[in-house]
Amino acid sequence: MESLDLLLGKGLQKLGILEQFKLNTIVHHWKDVVGPIIASHTRIIDIKPPRIVISADTSQWMQEIKMNEKRIIKHINDYYKSDVITEMRLIMQRQSYIKQDEEKPLILEKEIKSRDYIQSNKIVLTDDDVDRIDSIVNKTNNEELKEAFRKLLISRWKKEIHLEQQGFQRCERCHVLMDRNNQYCVSCEYDLYREKINGIKTFIRNYPYCKYGDCKPHINCTFTEFSTAMRELIYFYLDKIYKGSTSRNHMYMAAMLITHKKPDELTDQHVINLCNKYRSKFLDEEKQKELQALRGINEWEAINESNNSSEFQDNSKS
Ligand SMILES: [Zn+2]
Repeated sequence: MESLDLLLGKGLQKLGILEQFKLNTIVHHWKDVVGPIIASHTRIIDIKPPRIVISADTSQWMQEIKMNEKRIIKHINDYYKSDVITEMRLIMQRQSYIKQDEEKPLILEKEIKSRDYIQSNKIVLTDDDVDRIDSIVNKTNNEELKEAFRKLLISRWKKEIHLEQQGFQRCERCHVLMDRNNQYCVSCEYDLYREKINGIKTFIRNYPYCKYGDCKPHINCTFTEFSTAMRELIYFYLDKIYKGSTSRNHMYMAAMLITHKKPDELTDQHVINLCNKYRSKFLDEEKQKELQALRGINEWEAINESNNSSEFQDNSKS
C-alpha cells in the first residue's frame, strides 16, 4: 500500500503546485532580495522559469530596473540557491482605462489623443440632449456651480458624440465607450472573469476535497478556470502556513485542497507533517516554539527543563 506521504507528493506534482509555491515564496522576501527602494516600485507578476515578469510603477523605474537587470537576476537566483531565472520581462503596472470617480466613465485623454482632436464647434447637440443636460444641472441650487456644471456636461456630451462618430462602441455592462469590437470593455471583462473565479472559490471552500468533475455539475466552468480558483485557494492557505499559522482550519484546508481527501480520511499527524514542509525557516522564536509544541517536542523539553530548574533551586537553598 502506498503511504499517505507518497500520495500527498503525487497530488502536488499533478498540479505543479509544490515547485510553483516554493518559487512564489520570493514575493514575501522581495524587499530583502532587491532592497527596499526597488521593492517599493516593483511587483513580481509571474515566475515561470527561466523567466520572471516584473512590473514597475513608472517608466523611469522600468529603465532603472533594466539597467540593473543582471544584478537583480543574480540576487533572485541567490535566493533560490540555483540559477533558475535567466530572463527578465518588464511591464508597466496595469493602468485603469476608466476614471473611478465618475458615475458615467469616460475614455482617458490618451485614447482620445490617438484619434483626431475634437472640433467642439462642429458637433451640435440636439434639443433633446440640451434638455437632458438642463434637467441634470437644475438639480443644483448654486448659480455659479450650475453654469460650470453645464459647461462640463456639454463638453463631455460632445466628446462622447465625437467618439461614437469615430466608431467607438459601448460596453454592454457599464456603457463606457470603447475602441474595440467586443461585448464588454476590458474592465468589465476582468470583473466578470473575477466574479466567475470567486464563485468557483466559494464552492471549493465548502467542498475543499472536490475535483473538477465534482464542481462542473454545480458551476459551469472550464478546467482552466477551476484550476485557477483551486490554485489561488491553495496559495492562500499555504501562505498562512508559510508565515507560521498553526490554525487547525488553515492546516486542514490546505491538506484537503492538495490531497482531495475528506477530513475523516486525514489524521492530525499527516496534516501536520504536510504543513511543516511548507513553513518558512525564517520564523521568529515565538512561532518556532508554537510549532514545536504542535510536534509534541516542546512538552517533553518543558518537563525536563522544569525538573532541572527545580533541582537547581533546591540545591541553592540548601
Ligand atoms: Zn464595461
